[in-house]
Amino acid sequence: MSNEFRADLHCHSTCSDGTLTPEELVVLAREVGLSGLAITDHDTVDAYDTVLAAAKAVDFPLVVGAEFSASDEGSSVHLLGYGFRLRHPAIQELCRRHAARRENRNRKMLELLAKEGMPVDEGELAGEQSHTIGRPHIAMAMVRRGYVSTVKEAFDRYLGDKKCCYARGEAITADETIQAIHDAGGYAVIAHPHLIKNEQLILRLLKKPFDGLEGYYAKFYPRQEERWVKIAKNRQWLITGGSDFHGSVKPDIPLGSSWVGEETFKLLHQKSVENNGELF
Ligand code: AMP
Ligand code: FE
Ligand code: FE
Ligand code: ZN
Repeated sequence: MSNEFRADLHCHSTCSDGTLTPEELVVLAREVGLSGLAITDHDTVDAYDTVLAAAKAVDFPLVVGAEFSASDEGSSVHLLGYGFRLRHPAIQELCRRHAARRENRNRKMLELLAKEGMPVDEGELAGEQSHTIGRPHIAMAMVRRGYVSTVKEAFDRYLGDKKCCYARGEAITADETIQAIHDAGGYAVIAHPHLIKNEQLILRLLKKPFDGLEGYYAKFYPRQEERWVKIAKNRQWLITGGSDFHGSVKPDIPLGSSWVGEETFKLLHQKSVENNGELF
């Protein structure tokens, strides 16, 4: 195993749609030789309630993070926040709004599925620790009930954007998300820009007051990352990176398949400590 400093800044726990608990992510991160980690659950920071103490006990450094679902002129986009104050009212309010948005939206999607003859009960969706329930949980329930054979099929046929049982829910804008992250003293970063197919959306996002973009992502080749690295360098933005590890629901993406080096990690870690001193 190499001694190179590698920190994965994008992964999901059972607090959203990952299959490992926050503590298990820390164990795995050490096993695969990572030197640091940020857990970036969808629309929640609940992982940090327990994982900070667990990481501290083994002297493993964490960066505070989250991946927020946002909307810009009707298009969906994922925004990463790093290093912010976990207990800041702007973050707590944002997470609360997302929880309400998801509750309504999940109910709507279950109604649409029932109309298609595929009833799923709300009670089937939640894992014990899942605070953020979304389409992956619905897809897994559909697999369990035998409506589809894979999560992918559930998305391809029913739950994917614009498919018949998809509901977007209340729009929480990219602008207000960036604002909340900044209010809480953090960095706002465009998640996996490689995946954004809408050039107009990209151009609009690049005009917003972000602090960085996720230049290194999952298993993209350096050639596919070049454009984004170049854009970030031109703007003197942070270039973050991570695997987007979800555990066994996305078995082809291992933890640590993308990462950042010591300099970027230290900067974000410093910010996390500065804003959350009492918790670190
Ligand atoms: P939600 O936040 O409820 O809209 O669900 C979005 C999440 O579903 C993403 O973060 C992915 O983890 C997962 N997802 C999106 N598209 C697919 C797909 N085609 N197959 C499997 N998982 C997907
Ligand atoms: Fe996800
Ligand atoms: Fe994402
Ligand atoms: Zn993600």
